[in-house]
Amino acid sequence: MSRLVVVSNRVAPVDETKPTSGGLAVAVLAALKRSGGIWFGWSGDVADVPGEAVNEVRSGKLTYATFDLSTRDHDEYYNGFANSTLWPLFHYRLDLANFSRRNYTGYRRVNAFFARKLIDLIEPDDLIWVHDYHLIPMAEELRRAGVANRIGFFLHTPLPPLDLLLALPEHRELMRSFFAYDLIGFQTAADRRGLLDYAIQEAGGEMAGDTIFRALGRTASAEVHPIGVDTDNIERMAASAAAARYGARLRTSLGGRRLIVGVDRLDYSKGLPERFMAFGHLMNAYPANRNRVSLMQIATPTRTGVPEYAEIRRTLETLAGHVNGEFSDFDWVPIRYLNKSFARRTLFGLLRSAQVGLVTPLRDGMNLVAMEYIASQLPSDPGVLVLSRFAGAAWSIPDAIIVNPYDTEGVAEAIQQALDMPRQERVERWQANMDALRRNDVNRWRETFVARLEEAPFA
Ligand code: UDP
Repeated sequence: MSRLVVVSNRVAPVDETKPTSGGLAVAVLAALKRSGGIWFGWSGDVADVPGEAVNEVRSGKLTYATFDLSTRDHDEYYNGFANSTLWPLFHYRLDLANFSRRNYTGYRRVNAFFARKLIDLIEPDDLIWVHDYHLIPMAEELRRAGVANRIGFFLHTPLPPLDLLLALPEHRELMRSFFAYDLIGFQTAADRRGLLDYAIQEAGGEMAGDTIFRALGRTASAEVHPIGVDTDNIERMAASAAAARYGARLRTSLGGRRLIVGVDRLDYSKGLPERFMAFGHLMNAYPANRNRVSLMQIATPTRTGVPEYAEIRRTLETLAGHVNGEFSDFDWVPIRYLNKSFARRTLFGLLRSAQVGLVTPLRDGMNLVAMEYIASQLPSDPGVLVLSRFAGAAWSIPDAIIVNPYDTEGVAEAIQQALDMPRQERVERWQANMDALRRNDVNRWRETFVARLEEAPFA
């Protein structure tokens, strides 16, 4: 078997007790722990004069190879093109996308820099697996330097329809970079459609098989490989966490009231203002819930260098204040709003304590928290997941209550349905969802993607 070299913007801390809030890091770590290999990427540190050296740390079968970024690279590549242009565009938010030639040039420059550093580490037989929107041009840069390895790419975010992609001034250069990979994996069929429509309608390419396409002189396979979670591990952690001391603290603080939980990075794609409004509507439309049900929303701050994130934070503070001001009682607060991150075990204990999991993004590549909510439940008395149809997870968790997050009244009704659901139905739905998650867990995701990449080239 070939060695696996994973490349992602950010490499998770070697110390696993530190919280990682980001689906990609969680999934890649779970996948790599089994197979071993190299995980190559940015350390997360910004230095005025970054060291040239790649720092290598071994932990079990896995080697972490990281380097720092300069302040300028961090501004133009990370805060700039990746998170102010591609992130909003890929989440269908043209209104928030910021287009700047300078940032695009910085993005290409940093991709070339990643490629130069990687070349020193790889052997001819290695399988290279690049992750996410930060690094779309990596394969093109590697090929330009003569690297002939099999190179795969997985996009953790959505990819929007052709018409939205065309709004990017550099769409031609960026999109043709995809074609330098042998295998391109997506979370859903709709995301894959975005690439194929571009390849065929815009780049004049053609299909050469069910998944294989030819465009601009290159051949690649575009496939749907939905990511999964490490179900066994989550079940174990959730069970041990619920028994821990803070589990008792949480129960005491609730005083027998019921709990709805939301866990998200503080990001405009997550539908948090809409969620708070739906919860406010629940209090109005179903007043029996007053002083009986609380929403605990964990909203972990991220990308604080991007102005839109400060804006969404202000919006949420106002909305939480508004709902709490209107409905609180001297012994009860409707929304517990927490801007902090938690270690995974603690988080799973919180998910297990909640009768309803509320996951209502406006657009999301997958949403691992939705899966983690299911995997954390007590099998004999599970909670109910209310899930946005616009999360990739809606295709992987068939028996959740599926909602349109823009429909405030509809989401409030769905929460009420979840709160009222009889135990037998909860158990049946949970079982069906858990079976689906176990069938396609994170190990299966890695195995199927890597096995397919081993079959490359597809020409
Ligand atoms: N997470 C965590 N601590 C926190 C908040 C989130 O460990 O305080 C983890 C969470 O368990 C999940 C990941 O971060 O595995 C978030 O992934 P998701 O796909 O839900 O969203 P993303 O952040 O990738 O958009």
